[in-house]
Amino acid sequence: MCGIFGYIGKNNAKEKLIEGLENLEYRGYDSSGVAIVQNGQVHIVKKAGKVCVLKDELMDSDINGNCGIAHTRWATHGLPTQLNAHPHTDSKNTLCLVHNGIIENYLELKSEYNLTTKTQSDTEIIAELISKIDEKKNLDKIKKACNLLKGSYALAVIFKDEPETIYLAKKESPIMVALGNDGVYISSDANAFKKYANNFYILKNNEFAKISNNNIEFYNKNKKINKKTNNIEKTFSFENKNKYLMQDEIMQTPDALKETALYFDNFKNIKHYFDNVDKIYLIGCGTAYHSCLLGKKYLEFLNVPIFTEIASEFRYSKIKPSKNSLCIFVSQSGETADTIACVKKCKCKTLAITNVPNSSITFNCKKTILMKAGWERAVASTKAYCCQLLVFYLIKCLLKNEKPKWKQLVSSCRKYLKKNNIKDISKKVLNFEKIMFIGRQEDYVTAMESSLKLKEISYINCIACPSGELKHGTLALVDENTLVILISTKHSLHNKNLLSKQEIEARMGCCFVASNIADSKIELPNLSSDLLPILSILPFQLLACEVCISKGYNPDKPRNLSKSVTVE
Ligand code: GLU
Repeated sequence: MCGIFGYIGKNNAKEKLIEGLENLEYRGYDSSGVAIVQNGQVHIVKKAGKVCVLKDELMDSDINGNCGIAHTRWATHGLPTQLNAHPHTDSKNTLCLVHNGIIENYLELKSEYNLTTKTQSDTEIIAELISKIDEKKNLDKIKKACNLLKGSYALAVIFKDEPETIYLAKKESPIMVALGNDGVYISSDANAFKKYANNFYILKNNEFAKISNNNIEFYNKNKKINKKTNNIEKTFSFENKNKYLMQDEIMQTPDALKETALYFDNFKNIKHYFDNVDKIYLIGCGTAYHSCLLGKKYLEFLNVPIFTEIASEFRYSKIKPSKNSLCIFVSQSGETADTIACVKKCKCKTLAITNVPNSSITFNCKKTILMKAGWERAVASTKAYCCQLLVFYLIKCLLKNEKPKWKQLVSSCRKYLKKNNIKDISKKVLNFEKIMFIGRQEDYVTAMESSLKLKEISYINCIACPSGELKHGTLALVDENTLVILISTKHSLHNKNLLSKQEIEARMGCCFVASNIADSKIELPNLSSDLLPILSILPFQLLACEVCISKGYNPDKPRNLSKSVTVE
């Protein structure tokens, strides 16, 4: 949540900062701003709304300089207004800063240090606090202020009396630095460095950086430190062919699956990690939680108790996994704050499944399986979800000594994306006020994920319900304005499922069957029952995208949301 970008070097910072923000906009897009140093003076421009609004203003301005910091916000405290946008300054105007995270004790600090503020953002307190601290060196001011902060932060700070230097501080929220040919770059996401550098440094918790032209110094709380660089991942390149990233990302699924399956060869020794495990916990948020639900189905043959947990709940639950438990954490970005809080709570075997190398989750878990879905920037996860499910399937095959049939999966995915009937279906879906997805077993998980996808980008009120549960309450919602999408992929349950269709139609509701079995309204990919759950979501990802675009919305940037949920 929130993108920070910074540049200091030979070239004009303005273009670099805007390009950086455009790349990071998926992390937050309610307002944005920059601070650029021109002839020793710091100029701040902030705007409510998307980065393009800031870009228009900035490109027309005379502000030019070689050093600057930029921010695209996902508000946690205070409305997404121009005033609350970052960078924030202190009241004496001695510094400006951008922040990703939440300062949990900002109200306590405000009263304890008698700080006055002009905005509603928690971030402004950090600026006030740093400026109040009586230390000679700016780095020491930041260090002392950080000692007082509770919560999470990645900070980039410019001081008026040291305008050609950018300071960084980090706790829980990601921030990294890269030395490029023409200067030093700062970013919340290493993908945004790709154009400029081959490797980069990641700040760890309670580390600081002092950056000036071509020089980067790192510090911990006590002293200067040396850090190793990480390579920027050279993923195979994905083309942008469509108007929206989400459309591109769905179309990239076959390649993402193929690359993930090939790369899984590097993680085969994970097999022994399952030895002597007496309980398995699968933990994630949102779409990643749905992957856990399907992951459980893939691992059920192990015959050990498997628990699926929503990370934001589990972090506060009294249950602590025992020593012989294995906890598997799923997070596309590897930065999901709630999931990482759970990792820290689990003192047992820990395994991350993530799409981002060197992300916080990889540092916190003892083992990692990396997917190769490529950069996913549309807020609604698509290709990464399918890859997460593939990883669970590959683990299952590995543990059972079965040959995985991923080639079949990839070709069926490719075929389905070329030819399906979702465009026609989406026109009909638009006529309904309420939508319900129902199914049993794996199909119920697909129903949950389908409902999440549709609501998050089309804002249609929809829910998921296990087919068998309808008559225990939810059926009361069904009327002539309701569309129920019944997902049915199991031969043994198909006739039972068709009974639900009868019950819905008897209450004037409309029911579309989505199946690979008989003639059905919504076609599903043609695959065996162990592979189908990986792809049965495809029609509903496409459907959500189509419906969203037909309603005139942008599927990449749904209201109120952002990708990479790095705050609690
Ligand atoms: N808590 C800060 C704010 O609301 C930063 C949010 C962010 O990470 O974008 O301004």
